[in-house]
Amino acid sequence: MADIRFYRDFAFQYGVLETVSPLIRRMVARNPGLFTGHGTTTYIVGQGRVALIDPGPALHSHVEALLHSLRGETITQILITHSHADHWPAAAEIQRATGARIYGFGPRRSKQGASGEEIPDYSFLPDQTLRDGDVLEGPGWHLAAVHTPGHASDHLCFSLAEERVLFSGDHVMGWSTSVIMPPDGNLGDYMLSLEKLVHRNDATYLPAHGPAILDPKPHVHAFIEHRKERSAAILRRLREGDAAIPEIVKAVYVGLSPGLRWAAAQSVLAHLIELVRLEQVECGGPPTTDRRYRLRHGSRSQ
Ligand SMILES: [Zn+2]
Repeated sequence: MADIRFYRDFAFQYGVLETVSPLIRRMVARNPGLFTGHGTTTYIVGQGRVALIDPGPALHSHVEALLHSLRGETITQILITHSHADHWPAAAEIQRATGARIYGFGPRRSKQGASGEEIPDYSFLPDQTLRDGDVLEGPGWHLAAVHTPGHASDHLCFSLAEERVLFSGDHVMGWSTSVIMPPDGNLGDYMLSLEKLVHRNDATYLPAHGPAILDPKPHVHAFIEHRKERSAAILRRLREGDAAIPEIVKAVYVGLSPGLRWAAAQSVLAHLIELVRLEQVECGGPPTTDRRYRLRHGSRSQ
């Protein structure tokens, strides 16, 4: 079994600007939930002329606390890891107050057209788009964008070379695995994005929810193994005669709380989409939650 060492201890106070390192401060927004943990962490990079990473949801109290705590300093850039609603909507209010520019990947491919093809979602539009390797800078700091699609097609991590820190957004978290929700979430992309991190040399990850990850490489390896095991478990269920996603969820996620059943079904769908792409599984059309799945005849799956 993949041995994921989760990080759950997280000492913080809502609305308080806390120092993480010489170049990094943080403030946690009060939007706790099943998928957000204690809430979204906004990171502040630099001193004097600073960048914000993930200003958070449209939560006036959070924006007010950020602006108050950073009075006397200038917010020059607002960076968005991805366009999920707990990460970016506060950017508008901060921009109105400060004039800071908003940076992010740009439209994600998340909506489905009538014929099932994916069409871009323009609900989040940055002032300036970032691509893999693009660098933003301020006094004493550089932040490089690392495109890591999977959890969301527009997901960026940001690397702060001066401290060998990677702001890992929702791609890699310490307290939980990432939710991969099709069609915008894509398991094949997610696995490639995990591999991409294995080849880097970051000392610490600071995720958008929860505590820092202090041993990033073993953590990422464990996540890769975990997904491989899940795919193998799904193939086993198909071999034993399960065909519908609810049956597979019941067998694979033992003891799952009812509130998470829908997310588990989405996760199994994400795996099945990838297994169909790899031609190990078939379902007679585009994969959806209500199709019936079976092993592809002659597939080389174990
Ligand atoms: Zn997210």
